[in-house]
Amino acid sequence: MSTVEDSDGANTASGEKDAESSKVHKVHKMRAKQDHGGEIDPVYKKLSAINGEINRMSSKELRDKLAELKLDVRGSKDILQKRLKMHYKQRKLMKAKVKPPGNSTYDYLIIIDFEATCQENNLNYNHEIIEFPAVLVDCHTREIVDEFHEFCKPIINPRLTEFCCGLTGITQDVVDKADEFPAVLERMESWMSSHYLGVDHTFAVVTDGPWDMSRFLQMQCNFSKIHFPHWGKKWINIRKAYSSYYSCKRMNLEEMLINLGLKFQGTQHCGLHDSRNIARIAIQLLNDGCDLVKNEFLHVAPPSPGTKSLGHLSNISSGDTSDHQNRTKEEIVKKLEDMKLESKNFVEENQDLLEYHRLQST
Ligand code: AMP
Ligand code: MG
Repeated sequence: MSTVEDSDGANTASGEKDAESSKVHKVHKMRAKQDHGGEIDPVYKKLSAINGEINRMSSKELRDKLAELKLDVRGSKDILQKRLKMHYKQRKLMKAKVKPPGNSTYDYLIIIDFEATCQENNLNYNHEIIEFPAVLVDCHTREIVDEFHEFCKPIINPRLTEFCCGLTGITQDVVDKADEFPAVLERMESWMSSHYLGVDHTFAVVTDGPWDMSRFLQMQCNFSKIHFPHWGKKWINIRKAYSSYYSCKRMNLEEMLINLGLKFQGTQHCGLHDSRNIARIAIQLLNDGCDLVKNEFLHVAPPSPGTKSLGHLSNISSGDTSDHQNRTKEEIVKKLEDMKLESKNFVEENQDLLEYHRLQST
């Protein structure tokens, strides 16, 4: 472990912000490459060697090293490895003067976890959204800064099934008193506007899996005969981002938390509590150096005659211009997954290489 134990970054304050966005890395890698006459900066070769050493460390060695560096020691081996690698990556790049300011692609994340009407064992149910929570995470301070939360009245199946009440904890009187979905969506979008999202600040929607946007929101917009909101067409599926970043299998919300050494806080299937826990995972990913970028998109059919626009608010766009690049990266990552690469180390090397090739083409 000679390289990892090198103290060449000793002047780096421990506990420093350890996240760097890959987007900013790109710029600095490009610069590093140009500075070395087209060759990759030696710092990246050094980092590969360090990564190799980290891959050979036991869980205890990883925890001891992270503790020594005053870093978070919670989580499975995959998580600990990634955290230590990112720490050295940042330290080495800073020392090599290719240190980026450390930032994420977006200013804010909006975590959304809908609850919907349902029936036990019925996958073809006409789900209507009955709980609409949105948790706002500031990517720079990496904390929850605001929440939106309302219930909605279902129209097609106004009576909640016993199963639905039991699952979500939502009672009939709560939805009876609530407004219908379009009014709630309008208020949620006003809430977004009050934070200047898509105007002064970039943002991305985050969900646990693809269903919130591709199933619940899409179905609801069809039922309500309103346009599908622009901001919901591309988003971050945290399950995908998590498994890709920590090089582990796809997990559900509870499994992702446990794998990080965290516990679910609150009640599962309560939309607001689910959203807050997804936010905790997103914050941990940011803290561990992951640049969360959109990795899902939806082809929404053009509005059919008779659908209404909610006005200018439905057109709120995330202010992000990198979607094309993100899609390209996702396609590459998916291809890597499809190839069923046997070694986690090999995956990592190839991801680095892919990133490097992408840099060259930018
Ligand atoms: P969740 O975010 O996991 O709480 O689930 C969101 C929505 O998916 C719920 O409000 C239900 O409408 C539906 N759902 C979740 N689990 C089930 C299940 N086991 N059976 C039927 N519907 C479900
Ligand atoms: Mg939920």
